[in-house]
Amino acid sequence: MFKSHRYGLITSLVGIIAVVVLLLAYRHLMWRGVIDQEIRSHATLTQVFSNTIWPRYAAFLIDASRFSRDELRRHEVIRKLRQDVSQYIARSSVVKIKIYDLAGITVFSTDPVQIGQDKSRNSGFTSAKTGVPMGKITFRDRFDTIEGVIVDRNLVSSYIPIRISGNAPVEAVIEMYSDVTDLIVELSKHQRGIIFWVVGTLSLLYVFLFFIVRQADKTIEKQDKERLEHKAKIHYQAHYDPLTGLHNRTSFGESLQEHVNRALIGGRMLGLLQLDLDHFRLVNDSLGQSVGDQVLRTCAKRMQSCMRESDMLFRTGSDQFAVIMEPIRNTEDAACLALRIIESMTAPIIVNNQDLMVTLSVGISIFPQDDSSAEMLVKNSDTALHLAKQEGRNQYRYYSAAMKQHALDQLDFETRLAQALQHNEFVLYYQPRVEAASGKIVAVEALLRWAHPERGLLPPNSFIPLLEQMGLINSVGEWVLRTACQQTREWHDAGLPVRVSVNISSGQFRVDSFVDMVRGALDQSGLYAEFLELELTESVLIDNIDNIIKIMEDLKEIGVSISIDDFGSGYSSLNYLKRLPLDYLKIDRTFVKDLATSEKDVAIIKTIAALAHSLGIKLVAEGVEEIHQLEFLRSQNCYEFQGFLFSPPVPSAAIPDMISERPVRHAV
Ligand code: C2E
Ligand code: MG
Ligand code: MG
Repeated sequence: MFKSHRYGLITSLVGIIAVVVLLLAYRHLMWRGVIDQEIRSHATLTQVFSNTIWPRYAAFLIDASRFSRDELRRHEVIRKLRQDVSQYIARSSVVKIKIYDLAGITVFSTDPVQIGQDKSRNSGFTSAKTGVPMGKITFRDRFDTIEGVIVDRNLVSSYIPIRISGNAPVEAVIEMYSDVTDLIVELSKHQRGIIFWVVGTLSLLYVFLFFIVRQADKTIEKQDKERLEHKAKIHYQAHYDPLTGLHNRTSFGESLQEHVNRALIGGRMLGLLQLDLDHFRLVNDSLGQSVGDQVLRTCAKRMQSCMRESDMLFRTGSDQFAVIMEPIRNTEDAACLALRIIESMTAPIIVNNQDLMVTLSVGISIFPQDDSSAEMLVKNSDTALHLAKQEGRNQYRYYSAAMKQHALDQLDFETRLAQALQHNEFVLYYQPRVEAASGKIVAVEALLRWAHPERGLLPPNSFIPLLEQMGLINSVGEWVLRTACQQTREWHDAGLPVRVSVNISSGQFRVDSFVDMVRGALDQSGLYAEFLELELTESVLIDNIDNIIKIMEDLKEIGVSISIDDFGSGYSSLNYLKRLPLDYLKIDRTFVKDLATSEKDVAIIKTIAALAHSLGIKLVAEGVEEIHQLEFLRSQNCYEFQGFLFSPPVPSAAIPDMISERPVRHAV
């Protein structure tokens, strides 16, 4: 990761080093300046020396090599020269003077010990001999001067040629030493001050910068971390289902395409399974979403446990799942998995100490045999799933070409159904209900039919579940209610005071405006409320019961009667029965059907009858086809009968004749 404070640190360090180098360069230049200054001053002194003292001693000194070292040291001329030199340098910074002949021999020195020394190889001497002065600065911890020994001094020594005038030949070389200690100390002090401030300021700036940059780094690091976490979260949300932790629909689309491509390149088979829980909406609606969620989680786990590691499971919708199997050896591989998953659901799911039975249906399509595009594989498995549902659920189906036609037909059917109301294709049939006591037709049940333009008159079971799925049941149900009320009112006007019962699906009952709708239908038709009965199935009761009771009481207030239809076939919550303001219980016709052979059905009807009587609810039997059924039901104090024994559902036009033909033969 980019660490700006590391880079800031390095950059600042480089800056500081550059400043230190500059300071050293400055120090060097300063020293050079001191040396040059001294050389210039020594040159001036030498010039004066050359013009004043030198001419008096030149002849002796130029030729001094004829003397031995000791002779020279003790020579009167040298002693005299030392006195002159002492006076000459007395008021200058020069502390020592040496003179060399052109052979490099020290012919004079303010320190006599050095007389006779050979300096011919000294670079300063050789330079001065050619006419170019040269100097340097040195530190000496002990140094002999004309006035005695000095210690710890900075000295500038320079070699200067001695000549009478600027262009005259060099006659000898003079070396002068100046004590520049005070100047150097002063300059060093000054320089130390500069270094202290510059380095101090830079260090402070550096520390300041370091903290700022480090803080900025931390912020950037934190933001980076947050950004990465956010990105991961977004990715998770986009690709996973939070409830089950499975890959979601988006992920499904992407993965399927990838797997199809892979299977295509590798020449392998791929199986696509689409799974849908049967009647899951019922679980959700009746037991609440949190129970539904637990069921989904358990189902997902069970599915997962059936799969191979290479299979991928997705949650593609609320209760829909999909599995991509890649590779598979043959179509049976896919069916085997489907079976394993279906079987894994046979054990009840326990939620809140309640056993729930869940089943599911599976549709399978195979690559490449069914199609080679991901999109078509999904469509095909969907078609197969539809068929598995239609043919009884809790099973799997392979896609086949014939299904395609079936799916197209289904689509056509749905499209026409959606327009049936507009096209006036719905018809109401009425089935008489005969009063046990009088044998008269006291009521009729309105039963919906669809006059399909091609298939003829269709029974409600073939399209009502579809209407419910398509969300059209409310508008069609309203039409049924209004038509039935209108029709009954017409019979009343014709002197036939019959009651009408209308089937209400649970979806209709849940709509807030349901009671208003009933009131509206009565008002519009002018039918008295006591001639209207609403048939509800037990599935209505699994909603919030207090709410249901409230709606029922509102309906009772209007004056309509309420019955429970197909009683005993659904989720009978006997406990609630006593709280509901019911008028009729219609025994489910499956119990009536096998009365002759099934003792259990006899027992059930007896129980239902006892229950109804004890709760003061009138019992109605439907599906009465045989005399013996009628006799038994009569013995159970049934209040009304309905069934083919009396009449099948008939068009409205047939009803007036039937009512006036009284009493009905079998009821007598
Ligand atoms: P349901 O309310 O239980 O209606 C009685 C059904 O039993 C009718 O079938 C009727 O034809 C049939 N039936 C009557 N007597 C006999 C008999 O003796 N033997 C046999 N085997 N069957 C008999 P249908 O008309 O096919 O209606 C089926 C179901 O469709 C109805 O059952 C009802 O639940 C529903 N349904 C009908 N019309 C409507 C409607 O307008 N709205 C709603 N939501 N559902 C309706
Ligand atoms: Mg009914
Ligand atoms: Mg019924």
